[in-house]
Amino acid sequence: MRVTLLGTGTSTGVPMIGCECSVCTSADPRDRRLRTSALIETATGNILIDAGPDMRQQLLRAGVQSLHGVLITHEHQDHIGGIDDLRPLNYRMQTSVSLYSTEHTLGILRKRYHYAFDAQSGGSSRPNIDLVPITPWQAFQLAGHTIIPLPITHGPMSILGYRIGQLAYITDASYIDDHVVDAIQGVDVLIINALRDQPHPMHLSFAQAQQYVDRIGPRRAFFVHLSHDLHHADLLHRLPDFMQPGFDGQMIEVVE
Ligand SMILES: [Zn+2]
Ligand SMILES: [Zn+2]
Ligand SMILES: [Zn+2]
Repeated sequence: MRVTLLGTGTSTGVPMIGCECSVCTSADPRDRRLRTSALIETATGNILIDAGPDMRQQLLRAGVQSLHGVLITHEHQDHIGGIDDLRPLNYRMQTSVSLYSTEHTLGILRKRYHYAFDAQSGGSSRPNIDLVPITPWQAFQLAGHTIIPLPITHGPMSILGYRIGQLAYITDASYIDDHVVDAIQGVDVLIINALRDQPHPMHLSFAQAQQYVDRIGPRRAFFVHLSHDLHHADLLHRLPDFMQPGFDGQMIEVVE
């Protein structure tokens, strides 16, 4: 199973519009961070995690020609803003694309993308999407793999992380419950959010994320949803070898 980090940036992306800080103006391509999303490619199909506003560019870059489903973590726009751009995959695959998330998040998707479900949409093309409700801890099958949705705390919200075999994917966490830490203990690859050094009410800081990595004990950990506060090179230098800042386009092999 191969994971590609399609985006590793926080909700504004990096560079941030109008910002002239040293990260936003960095010449290092690893400091350019599209909104956080990942592609999982397996022998039995492709799974996308989140469909943010940079999705079109990300799927073009990754050469994606088909998707078996999209796992949505939550309804913030940096995770769902690209759904309209699923249309070319509808044309190519001649079928709908299934989006998986909680009933709560799907309810918001139904409102925000109301035209996709409106038969009277005035003739313009609409994404053909199926909304599939899932529940934390209730495993389901997708593209030949067992997916376990994990309840993750994001400020006042409860959102989803995912375990897929030896991969655990957690974005936008501010807190991770002990049961979740136990359920992903010792995975091969952990992808987890870390915003910056200063604490934030909605997101883990680096110190907090590193504590979770230590408790979960993966073979390798990659940090995503990064702000413009830290250079990739500086992060690489200061982190232990088995932890890395992710960068856009990074490919990670996960043992099956
Ligand atoms: Zn986010
Ligand atoms: Zn900046
Ligand atoms: Zn969020």
